[in-house]
Amino acid sequence: MNTLRFLVSEITEQGIPCNTDVAVNTIQPPGVEGIPLERVSVSGTIMRVGEDFLFQGHVRGVFVHACDRCLELAEAPFDAVVLWTFKEGLAPTAAGQWGDIESADGADAGDLCYFQGPDIDLGPQVWEEAVLSAPVKYLCRNACRGLCPHCGANLNEQTCDCVKEEAVLSNTGLAGLADLFPDLDRKKSKE
Ligand SMILES: [Zn+2]
Ligand SMILES: [Zn+2]
Repeated sequence: MNTLRFLVSEITEQGIPCNTDVAVNTIQPPGVEGIPLERVSVSGTIMRVGEDFLFQGHVRGVFVHACDRCLELAEAPFDAVVLWTFKEGLAPTAAGQWGDIESADGADAGDLCYFQGPDIDLGPQVWEEAVLSAPVKYLCRNACRGLCPHCGANLNEQTCDCVKEEAVLSNTGLAGLADLFPDLDRKKSKE
């Protein structure tokens, strides 16, 4: 039983609470590329407002993906405040006429969704919200030191000799440069 589905006839003006963990595979639309969403839950209230229905609440979840720097698993939790208005009928196709409801002062007053049939399914909205909440980059911690580009050591857990050797090399590099012109001053004074 999908707990994100509500029978329209049962939704009252007082509202029906919705607090549920959602199995990611039940909201992923067929044929759509997956997202590294590990857990997702929905909490809030769906209520009747005149002819329409309103869901107000939170979509929370956790993305788990390899850290962009060190490849350890990184968790990225999100908590999105959502406000969805459901209208019965077909979504108008004219672009720009509908979509996000903008209030007079330009503030986003929530998303407008359309439903047909006897029930309202929050699943597609939950999926959309999760996709929008997916982080652009994954870091296991803000100060992740990443992997050594030379030996692959995880620099969060250990130091490797590459960094030191590099430092030594650059020092000797400068020293070597000076060695190429050991008697520069002397020659100058002779000329
Ligand atoms: Zn990392
Ligand atoms: Zn190294």
